[in-house]
Amino acid sequence: MTTHEYDVAIVGAGTSGCYAAATIANAGLDAVIIERKDAEEAGHIACGDALKGADKFPSAIPKSKIEPAFTNTGVDHGRFEIPSHDTVLEIPVPGELAVIDRLKYGKLLIEGAEEAGAELHYDTVVNDVKQTEDGQVTGVVGKRKGDPVEYDAEVIIDGAGALSLLQDKADFEDATFDTNVRYSQFCSAYREIVEVDEEVEWDDALVFKPTERAAGYLWYFPRTSTEINAGLGFQMNEEPMQMIDDLKDDLRDREEFENAEVTDKLGAALPTRRTYDSAVAPGYMAVGDAAAHVNPTTGGGIAGAAYAGQYAAEQAIEAIDAGDVSEEALWHYNERVMEHFGARYAGLDVYNILSTAVDVDDLMGLLAALPGRKLAEALYDGKTSMGPLLAARTAINSFGYWRQILDFYKVKQVAEQVIDHYERYPSSPDALEAWQRQRDELMETVYDVTGAEPKY
Ligand SMILES: Cc1cc2nc3c(=O)[nH]c(=O)nc-3n(C[C@H](O)[C@H](O)[C@H](O)COP(=O)(O)OP(=O)(O)OC[C@H]3O[C@@H](n4cnc5c(N)ncnc54)[C@H](O)[C@@H]3O)c2cc1C
Repeated sequence: MTTHEYDVAIVGAGTSGCYAAATIANAGLDAVIIERKDAEEAGHIACGDALKGADKFPSAIPKSKIEPAFTNTGVDHGRFEIPSHDTVLEIPVPGELAVIDRLKYGKLLIEGAEEAGAELHYDTVVNDVKQTEDGQVTGVVGKRKGDPVEYDAEVIIDGAGALSLLQDKADFEDATFDTNVRYSQFCSAYREIVEVDEEVEWDDALVFKPTERAAGYLWYFPRTSTEINAGLGFQMNEEPMQMIDDLKDDLRDREEFENAEVTDKLGAALPTRRTYDSAVAPGYMAVGDAAAHVNPTTGGGIAGAAYAGQYAAEQAIEAIDAGDVSEEALWHYNERVMEHFGARYAGLDVYNILSTAVDVDDLMGLLAALPGRKLAEALYDGKTSMGPLLAARTAINSFGYWRQILDFYKVKQVAEQVIDHYERYPSSPDALEAWQRQRDELMETVYDVTGAEPKY
């Protein structure tokens, strides 16, 4: 068994792991990223390639480093195609957006972490977590090309993505770490990179379309006007979709994809649930998909992963400096996540829960009737409001959907209460249980109002 020692060992060379490692190394501490893929395959991640908030990314890896992977910065709106209602909604996307060459971006991130001083250990699959009897995490164990290897570190940062294996192995019985995690809270998604001869007309838009069967959506995101990321996903509490065939059918029906060539295929799971209540345990922090730092309505998780990586690393540095890596000492990381996006995502999760309980056709009819800008606010902020004129116009357009609008209004109110509650996230682990109890009471109202099955 080979044993390595580092101040911080980070599992996973994705967005969250690279930002975490760069932050640790920039502060002069020893950081290693442990990645199961080889050097060639690392950074190749299933993704829609849409990078939201590209203008204000965390600074641990300079923006200039990743910018060469931004292949389309001309996208400024979403185009929602609703064939069942013969409607196309053009909805502005707030903030800067880039569609990226995901593999190149992945490679540049790894380069950025290395340039900051982090070490990369490829071909190394982590398969266990080392813990003391009282639950303190002290390292991880794995295999490199069949040979056993272990890493001892003051803090382990789990950036191993959705359904991280580390969390199955660790014993969090006495920690606040969120273990209320189930497959049904995830989405299964698949994408192809498709090249076409003629430029598509919608190269300034992210195109969304509801899938015909189980609740989900198809997307067409233009990396360039002739290279399109085409994919689809569905919530795993629904009947499974034949994703490859369904995508093929849709591509066949669109004339812009005639003679198209598929150059890459990849699928994966992603969390479409609220952010973990707590992503810390003694000596251990989870970041990015491993802690559900993903917008549960859009599936966008790159920005959350980058910020979480940086916040976790900053807290780890402070804790190591103080010689105390207890849950209490790492706690402030949870607070920063909740303040930045966790509260918003918890509010958006309420709409996700609603979408599993309503008829897709009704939802699409309702969407087709609502004003686009307000929808955009709801999609990204979780909060929106309408002036009286707009409300009146919406009411006329949406004749036939008033019942759903009334229900939607009730859901919106409880979503806002959820966000308000998350804005009071506790400042120490001791107060978590009481906060969770109150949140769970609010969730009962969510299930009552939406008619959905409990998600948690
Ligand atoms: C099909 C699809 C489309 C998506 N589209 C978008 C989009 O358009 N925009 C957006 O913002 N987000 C999108 N997302 C979500 C986004 O890709 C993720 O939120 C983001 O990649 C999370 O980054 P991460 O670093 O947390 O995890 P990941 O990027 O998943 O990285 C995890 C890394 O850990 C490694 N690893 C895992 N287990 C081990 C182990 N046991 N030992 C060693 N290494 C391990 C993996 O090989 C991988 O390199 C999409 C996701 C999917 C699946």
